[in-house]
Amino acid sequence: MSYAQALRCRECEREYPLDPAFFCQFCFGPLEVDYDYEAISRVMTRESVAAGPPTLWRYAPLLPCDPEYKVDLGTGYTPLLRADRLAEAIGLDTLWIKNDTVNPTWSFKDRVVSVAIARARQFGFTGIACASTGNLANSVAAHGAHAGMDTFVFIPDDLEEGKVVGSAIYSPALVMVRGSYDDVNRMCTELSHDQPWAFVNINVRPYYAEGSRTLAYEVAEQLGWRTPDHCVVPMASGSLFTKIWKGFKELHQVGLIDEPQTRMSGSQAAGCSPISTAYAEGTLNFRPQKPNTIARSLAIGNPADGFYALKTMQETEGGAEMATDQEIIDAVKLLAETEGIFAETAGGVTVACLKRMVESGHIRRDEETVAFITGGGLKTIEAVQGQLTEPLRVPASSDAFLEALEARRATEAGVAVAAGGA
Ligand SMILES: *Cc1c(COP(=O)(O)O)cnc(C)c1O
Ligand SMILES: [Zn+2]
Repeated sequence: MSYAQALRCRECEREYPLDPAFFCQFCFGPLEVDYDYEAISRVMTRESVAAGPPTLWRYAPLLPCDPEYKVDLGTGYTPLLRADRLAEAIGLDTLWIKNDTVNPTWSFKDRVVSVAIARARQFGFTGIACASTGNLANSVAAHGAHAGMDTFVFIPDDLEEGKVVGSAIYSPALVMVRGSYDDVNRMCTELSHDQPWAFVNINVRPYYAEGSRTLAYEVAEQLGWRTPDHCVVPMASGSLFTKIWKGFKELHQVGLIDEPQTRMSGSQAAGCSPISTAYAEGTLNFRPQKPNTIARSLAIGNPADGFYALKTMQETEGGAEMATDQEIIDAVKLLAETEGIFAETAGGVTVACLKRMVESGHIRRDEETVAFITGGGLKTIEAVQGQLTEPLRVPASSDAFLEALEARRATEAGVAVAAGGA
């Protein structure tokens, strides 16, 4: 069963029943799910969680849906990896990577979709839909297929090939819209008024957004039921960022961890940085932007939760950074070369911003830090193509290979000497 008890307006705190609704009728503020934390604290212990499945459903009492309606592709409980080589490269003592590239459709969006689709089925919806920058479309299409639901995914028409194929393969109604994500979102909001579908990030958004909290639960559990000093999280709408913080606070509320002291810092691409720019300017009111960056998955120019992300930074003494496209590419490579993790551009944004925050002193060397890597690299190979070391191309002869290898090493040594002498 679910311990969700109401929807509550984040602004005026008016309560609403648990319906497919997303904004307050009085002040138009966003609605958020509220739970009976007393009851949860009675049923949820460290032991009961440990005995659960190796997926996000191990935290079922904290989810806003009845697990009986779940569509389970095995999402969540992803590895928290100690990243010593990357830590050394950027100047940190202790760094962890929360590797969400290994989810069923290779991004963290499987978390939010798992929860949204379960709640949608509980409401009785037979159709599922979304407005997406790519990863959400992949996840909705896969879960819709697994559940046998009518599935409609709307994306901008200029996305990476991997994201388009990564939706089309599941045969949803795939709609490529001539326009930006913000245009797609506006169109889907209109459609949600009279189509009988659950748009996961529109009319059931309060439930969808709750899925992101499972990242916080997992990190705390994997660290031995405690929280890190600092988290670095990519921001598109800003929802994931705010929900990780909510997740830590809830674990304390239900008695599973001490009060979290974690500082929350967000990462954006310089080419779409409404939240990071507002942080830099010291305001809680961001100005919308027209995105222009290779980090398409984060390219939301008018972020729905931007204000709350900025408040979270204020509350936790965190902050925000932004990275250029070239820094993003270099960081994707750095993460792969030091840790063996191939991330999409959003991961590059996070590693590049983490590096900047260490360089600027915003993150101190001795702060135990977790970087959230939220999407897999095969989705955005365009970003790194042409930026990697050329393979050795040889005929099928061992002599030819050894000769080519020697030539390559000589060139590399020459480059190193030249660089050292400069
Ligand atoms: C959607 C997404 C995010 C963050 O999204 P929010 O809208 O801020 O919750 C981060 N990384 C990737 C790869 C994403 O697809
Ligand atoms: Zn309100």
